[in-house]
Amino acid sequence: MSDRPETIAAARAALRAGDVTAAELTAACLDAIAAAAPLNAFVHVTAEIARERAQAADALLRQGDAPAMCGVPVGIKDLFCTEGAPGQAGSRILEGFVPPYESTVTGKLRDAGAVMLGKLNMDEFAMGSSNETSVYGPAVSPWRAAGSTAPLTPGGSSGGSAAAVAAGLCPAALGTDTGGSIRQPAAFTGIVGLKPTYGRVSRWGIVAFASSLDQAGPMTRTVRDAAILLGAIAGPDPKDSTSADRPVPDFEAALSGDIRGKVIGIPREYRMDGMPDAIDALWQRGAEMLRDAGARTVDISLPHTRYALPAYYIIAPAEASSNLARYDGVRYGFRAPLAPGDGITEMYEKTRAAGFGAEVRRRVMIGTYVLSAGFYDAYYRRAQRVRTLIKRDFETAFADGVDAILTPSTPSSAFEIGALDSADPVEMYLNDIFTVTVNLAGLPGISVPAGLDGRGLPLGLQLIGRPWEEAELLDIGFALERAACFVSRPQRWW
Ligand code: GLN
Repeated sequence: MSDRPETIAAARAALRAGDVTAAELTAACLDAIAAAAPLNAFVHVTAEIARERAQAADALLRQGDAPAMCGVPVGIKDLFCTEGAPGQAGSRILEGFVPPYESTVTGKLRDAGAVMLGKLNMDEFAMGSSNETSVYGPAVSPWRAAGSTAPLTPGGSSGGSAAAVAAGLCPAALGTDTGGSIRQPAAFTGIVGLKPTYGRVSRWGIVAFASSLDQAGPMTRTVRDAAILLGAIAGPDPKDSTSADRPVPDFEAALSGDIRGKVIGIPREYRMDGMPDAIDALWQRGAEMLRDAGARTVDISLPHTRYALPAYYIIAPAEASSNLARYDGVRYGFRAPLAPGDGITEMYEKTRAAGFGAEVRRRVMIGTYVLSAGFYDAYYRRAQRVRTLIKRDFETAFADGVDAILTPSTPSSAFEIGALDSADPVEMYLNDIFTVTVNLAGLPGISVPAGLDGRGLPLGLQLIGRPWEEAELLDIGFALERAACFVSRPQRWW
């Protein structure tokens, strides 16, 4: 594709060795972004900020002793507030909003010398699995099925992040994952996506979707890069009371690839009816690869798995309906035009009707319904109980000695943009079947690219780890990555 370093680790080495400057690397990425307009991955390019930061990074690099991310260009999902750069969460309702503050994680990256290239496309308020609900229009995958030119989704909601990294526009990007939005797009585009343990990474300054589920995380080409990027963004934050006061280990130093003696659980409930053969075959191959590397696989049961999706689609909309109440035409961004005589109620109604897209409106309505006095016990409370049971399923498996759990990341490879019937949202929701359990239980999960299907499209395998054990999870992911040896790249058509 190009001879510039395409991973964080390679960029770090080249920058430290003086083989390339941050300014050069940034310029090359900005050129690649400009040439990749058909992917619709970047929705705001922050070229000025990028050039300034690259210069500052070069100064730091010349002094020696620069942090790992120093001078490394990154893309940021549009959900993160970044000072002085527009942030719309892919929504019309935040039109014109330029946050006056910086989210904790992007602030950490800035302080570590990383170079923000711009904001990346996403489903509106991170609700979706295909990036099709974005006010900017869908992001497009750099991948195409063999013999076809039909545009494919990069997945969602972090679709822009996935498309950008997979196309080599930047070595890494930040995504967020509430029900699968890092892991599913990573799987669809042949890259690595990590959702950390809930509380590992601060949520402060990230537009909230479902606060008890949301976590930011790395989307990268390699497991090593995910370890480096996680190390740069993790840690307690006094501004987020749910961020955990735990030391951040050196995730990269923990990568050994030696997984001899590890116990990998294969949950039988994840074998779904109608699962494509390619997914099942890949899952079995993944288990074999881990066994070949010295791990032991065991059959496990996570009996409440089938209730995860329904519980998620009650809890997430409930929290969203509350979080999104703040967009009322008074405080942020967009306000609908009003007619003479309209009062404040009309302003709220018209602004929210015109400012939110159909999927967001659906979720706000479901959320307010399940939280309403008459239905709270029947839906919301019951969903919370199911959530506890799902969490317990995992606790039991880990207590029985399982070190990590192997599942497919997604029930299919990438689908064509427009392929799923928008009249039946459940079809879209089914994309999350293997990932939402992990959010409900607050666990870390990683998707590692592991193969191609019959149409030449990437497939990922998911590893689920014990809480706070990202270091071990990354190490097992590292072993899987080595064994799978996924080297395919999309053919450039853009
Ligand atoms: N696809 C899921 C949803 O639409 C997950 C989204 C996410 O993880 N942000 O809710």
